[in-house]
Amino acid sequence: VIILVVNTGSSSLKYTVFKGESLQAAGLIEKIGSGQAVYSRVHLQAPKQSEPVSAANHREAITLMLNKIVAEGVVGSVSDIQAVGHRVVHGGPLYKHSVRVDAAVLQNRLGRALAPLHAVNYDGMEACMQVLPGIPHVAVFDTAFHQTMPEYAATYAIPYALTEKYQIRKYGFHGTSHKYVSQRAAMLLGRDPRQCRFITLHLGNGSSIAAVDRGQCVDTSMGMTPLAGVVMGTRAGDLDPAILPFLMQHESWDAAKLEEVLNKQSGILGLSGISNDMRDILKQAGEGHARAKLAVSVFVYSIVKYIGAYWTVMGGIDALIFTAGIGEKSPAIRAAICQQLHGMGVRLHAASNQKTISTEKVISTVFSRCKVFVVPTNEELMIAKETLAVVNG
Ligand code: ADP
Repeated sequence: VIILVVNTGSSSLKYTVFKGESLQAAGLIEKIGSGQAVYSRVHLQAPKQSEPVSAANHREAITLMLNKIVAEGVVGSVSDIQAVGHRVVHGGPLYKHSVRVDAAVLQNRLGRALAPLHAVNYDGMEACMQVLPGIPHVAVFDTAFHQTMPEYAATYAIPYALTEKYQIRKYGFHGTSHKYVSQRAAMLLGRDPRQCRFITLHLGNGSSIAAVDRGQCVDTSMGMTPLAGVVMGTRAGDLDPAILPFLMQHESWDAAKLEEVLNKQSGILGLSGISNDMRDILKQAGEGHARAKLAVSVFVYSIVKYIGAYWTVMGGIDALIFTAGIGEKSPAIRAAICQQLHGMGVRLHAASNQKTISTEKVISTVFSRCKVFVVPTNEELMIAKETLAVVNG
């Protein structure tokens, strides 16, 4: 079965082609609608190759993508594609699982309203269905895996009428990644996911943590939006909500400005004043840059606190799982986090931690109270698997 996985951003479109679970090709179109669109084929071992293309809107980008897939010989013809899986950031309260896309999914008013920045996911699906009619399209929501959170974990203590009126609650994100790495870790342990308790640490430019209790998410660090939780590349994460009206008043900011500062100018970038890229920050911190050091400490501390909380929530854990850019590739950050968990009995195997980069591996010692894994995430593969599962009923 050939499955196309599509991820539509505001001005970009990423695609991945799978034959069953085997990756065939991947690419992306960026700067859609700018007059300077660029197509890149992504190669696993070689640098990506880019070329200027014409793509005035997402629909044109989708047609272009299909032409490229055929021209590059990935598929013989467009009709070889049997299903399309779409990444959708916000599913709102309705979608607890991946679903076949129909008019109701496309109109998902709450999903669109709760994440206006990601409403483009819905427009992308619609355009793709027009270009590729007659085959199943499946929506895979970043929020779906977290829908099992108990009500008390997902509810904010604001006037309940507001909660109901706007469906304000914790939704959580990166669900596809948390689900994938927790399933892989269970496999590595040789156990059924329903017998395992994990804390999954998705640490990338956007970061989130989830408590996965016997295969089900029971809490996660992101909230109604991806702004909540641990410190991220440019997002603030948790902070005293009273700081918001204070800044609006004293800086004469409107809501849009506040959102921009908290989403784009805060986090590691705001703290360090240097960069949102953890590689730059670790380098500068190593050279003694005070605010780079502070940024690393604040980041690590915010993560350690969540681990402590979720460990308590689940009454113990079988494993901690590191994933995404920083989690997969930074032994230094993994060591700094686990160092602070020494009192909880976590013991990292220093050499194994040091040499594990982007591979599935246990990096704890036999004396550790819980296992520590590195599991590279693969959201595209998970979307392809979910798509296949929905298509097969
Ligand atoms: P996104 O959230 O955009 O998908 P990724 O999961 O690709 O991001 O993670 C990006 C982050 O991973 C960046 O902060 C980058 O600095 C960090 N990163 C990548 N490689 C390394 C590395 N070798 N050491 C430390 N951080 C790294």
